[in-house]
Formats: sequence, C-alpha cells, structure tokens
Amino acid sequence: MTRKKNIAVLGSTGSIGRSTLEVVRNLHDRFQITYLTTRGNVDLLREQIALFHPRGVVVLDEQNAAPLRAGLNGTVEVLSGTEGLEEVVTRSDVDIVLCSLVGFAGLRPTLRAVEAGKDIALANKETLVVGGEIIMRRVREQKVRLLPVDSEHSAILQCLQGEDPAAIARLILTASGGPFLRLDRTRFGAITKAQALNHPTWRMGNKITIDSATLMNKGLEVIEAHWLFGVDRDRIEVVIHPQSIIHSMVEFVDGSIKAQLGVPDMKIPIAYALTYPERPPGVSPRVDFGALREMTFFPPDLEKFRCLALAYRALETGGTAPAVLNAANEAAVELFLEERLPFTEIPALIEEALAAHAPVFHVTLEDLVRADREARDRVFQRAAAYSRMEGPHASS
Ligand code: MG
Repeated sequence: MTRKKNIAVLGSTGSIGRSTLEVVRNLHDRFQITYLTTRGNVDLLREQIALFHPRGVVVLDEQNAAPLRAGLNGTVEVLSGTEGLEEVVTRSDVDIVLCSLVGFAGLRPTLRAVEAGKDIALANKETLVVGGEIIMRRVREQKVRLLPVDSEHSAILQCLQGEDPAAIARLILTASGGPFLRLDRTRFGAITKAQALNHPTWRMGNKITIDSATLMNKGLEVIEAHWLFGVDRDRIEVVIHPQSIIHSMVEFVDGSIKAQLGVPDMKIPIAYALTYPERPPGVSPRVDFGALREMTFFPPDLEKFRCLALAYRALETGGTAPAVLNAANEAAVELFLEERLPFTEIPALIEEALAAHAPVFHVTLEDLVRADREARDRVFQRAAAYSRMEGPHASS
C-alpha cells in the first residue's frame, strides 16, 4: 500500500478549507491532515483538531494562539503569525499544501512551499494574480505540481487532458454574473452590503462574494488563467452563464470546444487537485438535466462591470500592475464590507490606483510587496478623504 499523503490546509476554517476537510474525510485512506491554520476562528479550529488530529496548527494572532496552546497541553503544536504559516509549509511531514488563504496574504506562504518542493493545490487566486511570474518560474525550477482549486481553472485543466497546449485557440471562462447581472447601472450606487453578499449560485467567503458581484473575481481569474496555462490576454474570454453548470471551456484551433460541467460544488475541483489525474467516486451530487432545462450565455457588460475591464488592462500592462489592481481591490472591498464605501467606488478607487502607479517590470518579491502596500495606502487615504467630503456612507 502506498503511504498516505500529508496535507497542510492553509485557511482551514474558511469556506474552501471546510470543503477540503470534507473531501479529505471521504478520502481518509489516501490523505491525512498534518497542519491546519486559521486567521481567527479558534472555536472551529478546535473542532477540526478533534476530528483530524493534525500535528500542528497555526493561528494568526499570538493572543488567540496562547489560550489554545494552554488548553491543548502539548498534544498539538500551536504556532502563530505569518512566520508560523511560512514555517509549517516547509516541514518534512507535508507533501501537499492546499492554500485557501484570502488575498495577498497567500503569496509568501505559497512561494515558501514551492521553494521547499511541496506540491500546491491553489485556491488563493490572488497569489498568481500578484506573483504569477515569480511563482510559475519557481514551480518549473522546483519541478513541483501546482494545481488549481478555482472551479474555472480546474475545468480548463480537465479540458486540456490529452491535448497539445499549442492547439489551444481560446480559453473561455464562464461567470455566473453575480447578483447584479440584471440590475440597471444607474442603481449600482445604492447597492448594500447585504445585497452584494447574496450570491445566486455559489456559497463562498465574503471577499470573493463581493468580487463576484463586481466581476473582479472573473478579472482575477483571467490573470490567473494567463499564468497557469501560458495563454495570452487576447485568447482568454469571459462569457456570462448564470446557471453555473459549465465551469469553463477550451476552444481548439480546429474550432472544437471542450467544456467541463457539474453542479456548483467546490468539492469537485478540490478533489481533482488532490487526486489528479485520478477521479475518486461520489465527490458531489449529479447534474439533473430535467430540472436544469436550459443553459444560457451572453457577453459581459464591461461598462457596467468596470472591474473586469480594469483587470484586462492590468494584465496588458503587466509587471507590478496586477499587484496594484489586486491591492486596491482588497482595500476597497474591505471598506465596502465595513460599509464605509459605496459599491460604485470600488472600481473608481482601483482605476485611480492603477493610473497613479508607475509599473516595474521583471518583478522581485520586494517590488510586489511595495506595490501592494502603496496601492492599499492610497485607497485608504482616498476613502478617508471621500468620507470627509460626503459624510459617512449610509447603508440603510
Ligand atoms: Mg472561480
């Protein structure tokens, strides 16, 4: 019998992290969890420790880590901080790092894991948006496997099995369109946090749900696809498909298109990334075509969803521009979730951050960290000036 593979799940208390643990529980004869990490949900982490018996856990704040450490009495190692994250991913009792951290915070731990020769299951798309050039170079040098957990990129990977990458004509990323697909653009200024968090087809964490409402999520995925599959911007298209049954498609040079379908359930791409190229049985419910009845498609409205247009622009510019796009977006989304910024200011602040930035090319990690910090600071400063002018944003 082959040895079980050891998995470190970064961000185990988030939406993808919880789904990952469900997948691993059903594949317990092939995988075991050696490390779990959380930003601050120590109660859920405690439950996960009891079920999965990891060797160690990481809690972001030492203040939260200390009582957990005392309670566990040495049975499980408790580390803290980003240093803790960056350490556990390099340990010898880790074969696969599943990274489901949110945002730029995923970049350094993922890079450390690649440099330590670990295989990566990547749910944190911002890592590739910001650091795609560096990460993919290290992946090739280290000869590790980096497999996408994002459903669109998993779909493309599945469509590409047995195909020659030189025969790719287009990658076609599908998008649900989010909750505001049919809302008139003139009403976007009044969109509330609760409305933006009510996604029609997927249940996800707050940050990605807002990104789905602005279509920035799809923009980030275009950039992610560029790095994962080495396809240039002109051959990556987005099509709105509200039923979220086709998860993405690849068109080949002969005009033939392959699509991957399934119910909207992240357990499929998670399991595929862990067991690739095998398919374990019974991962998710089946598509009921009788109930589905129809699948519809239409082009995205780039005037209405400016974040998608901005992402294409950042990818065209290259260098540190996608890092600025991402940082400005993370900061603006954070402010929107705190109800300190109207929905329409999200693309406005990102556009301004991109316009103010002089991009650096052939980037180093330090270039990316600097671009990230400057763009974030700019958004927070602009938002503070904005709220002084307009008064606090009324969300009621
Ligand atoms: Mg996705």
